[in-house]
Amino acid sequence: MTLQTRRTFLMTSTATGLVLLHPFAARAQAGQAHLRILATTDLHCHVHPYDYYADKPNDTMGFARTASLIAAIRAEAGNTLTVDNGDYMQGNPMADYIAYAKGMHEGDTHPVIAGMNSLGFDAGTLGNHEFNYGVPFLDLVNAKAGFPIVCANFAKTLGATPREDDLYTAPYVILERELTDGAGAKLPIKIGVIGFVPPQILQWDRGHLEGKFALRDIVEAARAWVPQMREAGADIVIALSHSGIDAAPFAEGMENASLHLAAVDGIDAIVTGHQHRQFPGKDFEGEGIDNAAGTLMGKPAVMAGFWGSHMGMIDLMLVQDGGTWSIAGHESTLRPIYQRNEDRSITALATDYAPAIAATAEAHAQTLDYVRAEVGQTAAPLYSYFALVADDPSVQIVSIAQTARVTELLQGTDHAGLPVLSAAAPFKAGGRGGPDYYTDVAIGPVAIKNVADLYLYPNTLQAVRITGAQLKDWLERSAGLFNQITPGGADQVLINPDFPSYNFDVIDGVTYQIDITQPSKFAPDGAVINEGANRIVNLMFNGAPVDPAAEFVVATNNYRAGGGGQFPGTGASTTILQAPDTNRDVLVRYIVDQGTINPAADANWGFAPAGGATVLFETGPKATAYLPEVQARGLKIEAAGDGADGFALFRITL
Ligand code: MN
Ligand code: MG
Repeated sequence: MTLQTRRTFLMTSTATGLVLLHPFAARAQAGQAHLRILATTDLHCHVHPYDYYADKPNDTMGFARTASLIAAIRAEAGNTLTVDNGDYMQGNPMADYIAYAKGMHEGDTHPVIAGMNSLGFDAGTLGNHEFNYGVPFLDLVNAKAGFPIVCANFAKTLGATPREDDLYTAPYVILERELTDGAGAKLPIKIGVIGFVPPQILQWDRGHLEGKFALRDIVEAARAWVPQMREAGADIVIALSHSGIDAAPFAEGMENASLHLAAVDGIDAIVTGHQHRQFPGKDFEGEGIDNAAGTLMGKPAVMAGFWGSHMGMIDLMLVQDGGTWSIAGHESTLRPIYQRNEDRSITALATDYAPAIAATAEAHAQTLDYVRAEVGQTAAPLYSYFALVADDPSVQIVSIAQTARVTELLQGTDHAGLPVLSAAAPFKAGGRGGPDYYTDVAIGPVAIKNVADLYLYPNTLQAVRITGAQLKDWLERSAGLFNQITPGGADQVLINPDFPSYNFDVIDGVTYQIDITQPSKFAPDGAVINEGANRIVNLMFNGAPVDPAAEFVVATNNYRAGGGGQFPGTGASTTILQAPDTNRDVLVRYIVDQGTINPAADANWGFAPAGGATVLFETGPKATAYLPEVQARGLKIEAAGDGADGFALFRITL
């Protein structure tokens, strides 16, 4: 891809009408040139604007949309350079289809690379997810990239100093280009591009990398290589940092090191990512972070969302004087592919870039077949009709998969050996979603589409380390779902409708009962309303009462671990693992690995007896088919006629 060049007309006409030149392009004189760096990050194989889990078009994603912005973006600019910041090849069913079903063979072009090649990139770097399918797979994917991919801190072996590391890719590339200046003259420039990946990949992809690869701290690698780029003649240096922004003080090996990377001498501009957030904007604040100026430590920087949601742009006004280039001005902006309206509807702000769609049309069609076809078998039905009143297979399978992955990720850490529990809540459990809003997958084939049904949100896997006392309080918080009932009373309403089902965490790995004759300690919003209240009884681990001082790891998601729902024991102080995997990926991988899953609920929780009280519970009418199964698990439940709005009513005796 060569640099696009433009003359300094104030206005220029394109097929779509008049386009205003960027002020740097408009203002540039002889010896001055506008360079616009265009950056994508965290594409995660989203080329088509299509949500394969939902099996529906979706205007909030897709590189084809981002790419379609580029004609206008280039028309506004004096000169452009297009870069990608990593996490390109994993993260949606199209990626899984290639990895798990079709495979990569010598000479194959991976669809995301085909999409990217259709636009033309000048350089890219590796993201942490590039390693998820193993390095031989990555080799095959990268072989067809029409642009250099660089990474300065991922090595086959580490040397005594960073420059002695035996790196997997070149640490940097120096692109020899010509910039058109304000007078129309072509001036040569050497643009250095260096890349970085979080060192945590050694932990996250231990199975693929352990014993074969080594990582170096991002800032340490930059301090060694950037001076060499300058020695090699780089006029400007752009860092592609597949690492986020963290205002915390520098720590060796930190995952989100872009702020500290920005302080390295010789780096002129920083493309960040990994956190799937936006910069500049409202997502980050702290010392050295300037959203108004679009800078980190005074250097222009950008983070362009995820899945193609934005094109990130860093505009540089470059001045050549006596053969030396310097930066006289800069601006960082994001251009979105959609806007979210006040009524939560979505308006698309981009169209499809036809070459990207065409280059991936076959892979798209094959992916549709893939998400609709079997990936594994379930030996037990997966349904959520009774998830609020009994241990439930749709919640159980999430916990089984989360427990397995967290246990794997904690191997070799300070937390290994602690009991790993798992918290999961029913996401599709009727309520305002209506009487059909339940998970319901029969015995037999499971399709990828069903996984979205089992795990509705694109959360990521996290884990907290908590005490037995915090564990009990977590469950007390969940137990606020239920109204307080009178022992022996008849036909009392069981569920508090103000309590969302996604906050009804079931914790697997321990056993317990819920005594709903007691008041709830917590209000539906998480506030403590009855300090001494105890609904959780007989809380046991391995058949013995849970010691309030004992320690446990609880697998959960980023929402809960981050404090969502204000659950006791959650938050930054207890979070010990922020895995790069989405919970859905964890589920898909578990199903693919197992072939046949057996998600029968283990009945690890239930209600404490309440003197024969009866309670009424509404669920979807299709629940009737599973009534014998839930009765066999010990719940005294019977049909009690029709509920409101198409729901069916059931009576439970406690
Ligand atoms: Mn990512
Ligand atoms: Mg269970």
